Amino acid sequence: MRVLLVEDDTSVAAAMESALRRRGYEVVRAATVAEALAAPRVDLVLLDFGLPDGDGIDVCRELRRRDDHVAIIAVTARGEERDRVVGLRTGADDYVVKPFSMAELQARIDAVLRRVVRTAPPATARQIGPLRLDPASRQVTVDGEPVSLTRKEFELLVVLAQEAGSVVSRDRLLMEVWRTTFAGGHTLEVHIGSLRSKLGCPGLVQTVRGVGYRLRAEGSER
Ligand code: CA
Repeated sequence: MRVLLVEDDTSVAAAMESALRRRGYEVVRAATVAEALAAPRVDLVLLDFGLPDGDGIDVCRELRRRDDHVAIIAVTARGEERDRVVGLRTGADDYVVKPFSMAELQARIDAVLRRVVRTAPPATARQIGPLRLDPASRQVTVDGEPVSLTRKEFELLVVLAQEAGSVVSRDRLLMEVWRTTFAGGHTLEVHIGSLRSKLGCPGLVQTVRGVGYRLRAEGSER
């Protein structure tokens, strides 16, 4: 397992590198956007968003463009809410907030890597109201217009579509998409929010307060 550690703070990077090596990971380090983009192919990227020569968000977007399967965990400073949301929308699988423990980081890594190796969703295209979802080609259209989703958004939509018209609990969504309930409600809400705005179809993904979410089936109540 090879990890690209993108972190410009040398002492943080050194501590993380030795902890990761003790856990058996091969570590490639990068301290700048330029180094991160020039790094060899890896399985997992731990990506600091504040880098001296640019923005980790751009690294995230570019790495995701090159390789849809690389796992990316954004590492942000506490309170940088905007960074987290943007990070998840540009293709990060999860994030951790500094300061974090190695135990927390390991839990995120485990969850993200389990997701990478999980089996593909069933390959039956579905039409639900204006929404068409084709798991085989990973294509989504609304009223015939293609919608570009991140992998997480797509997986969420697949789970909701499988149960269209019924409420799917938050824990089930977290388990199905993140393989853990550890990711927490906030991660789920961020992805639901971006999924909704990309679908641009108000009322299609409904919140069932205190329970979870429901994809409105054709003819069901708004
Ligand atoms: Ca930094």
